[in-house]
Amino acid sequence: MTPVRVTVWNEFRHERRSPHIQAIYPNGLHQPIIDHLNGAGFAARAAVLDDPEHGLTDDVLASTDVLTWWGHMAHGEVSDAVVDKVHQRVLQGMGLIVLHSGHYSKIFKRLMGTTCSLKWREAHEKERHWIVNPGHPIVDGLNEYIEIPAHEMYGEFFDVPAPDETVFIAWYPGGEVFRSGLCYYRGRGKVFYFSPGHETYPVYYQPDVLRVIENAVRWAAPTGSSYRLDAVKSAPIEPLANTAPITGD
Ligand code: ZN
Repeated sequence: MTPVRVTVWNEFRHERRSPHIQAIYPNGLHQPIIDHLNGAGFAARAAVLDDPEHGLTDDVLASTDVLTWWGHMAHGEVSDAVVDKVHQRVLQGMGLIVLHSGHYSKIFKRLMGTTCSLKWREAHEKERHWIVNPGHPIVDGLNEYIEIPAHEMYGEFFDVPAPDETVFIAWYPGGEVFRSGLCYYRGRGKVFYFSPGHETYPVYYQPDVLRVIENAVRWAAPTGSSYRLDAVKSAPIEPLANTAPITGD
């Protein structure tokens, strides 16, 4: 069977500018994700902002089943032309996994249609992601929560549309909560937002976090349905033949 083809997109700026972050992720925060996914039997590769077309050429997008997205300081540098193409590919069925500060990426805001703003605080706090949908394939193999010993707080209100499925809700010592694992269906595509991954913590080496990303790739991969979105657009709207006339008294 052909392995699911994953493109792991990373802005890859923090790791090259900050010695502290470079020490945590010497080859970029995409590398441990790629290593894990390849170890799990997927065909994963990197694409980064400073590559031509941000590494997301037509050929790359056409041969990507699932795209993961991490960005933070340079969302504005992502070209609208590339965002348009990624958006179209999602509607056609490519899976998209948006990680951490990717909540403010152009592609996520486009798909959500809202500001995607949230509350945040960097105070080196423990975080627990409680599973609220234990039958969901994205939590296969996990216990009842994922704990990150120290992380950045993301809290409500998270300005996104009501999700199609909520998988995780995070808790923080400050009393905040956050809908931290959310599923959306857009056209034929599946979108998963997952909040762990602040760049100053080694979150993408944590096995249960990697397991969620692996499960999410499996969930978001296209199913091979032959359903065509353009068929919907061309369907004529006909009046119902058997509608009884409305009569007044
Ligand atoms: Zn962050």
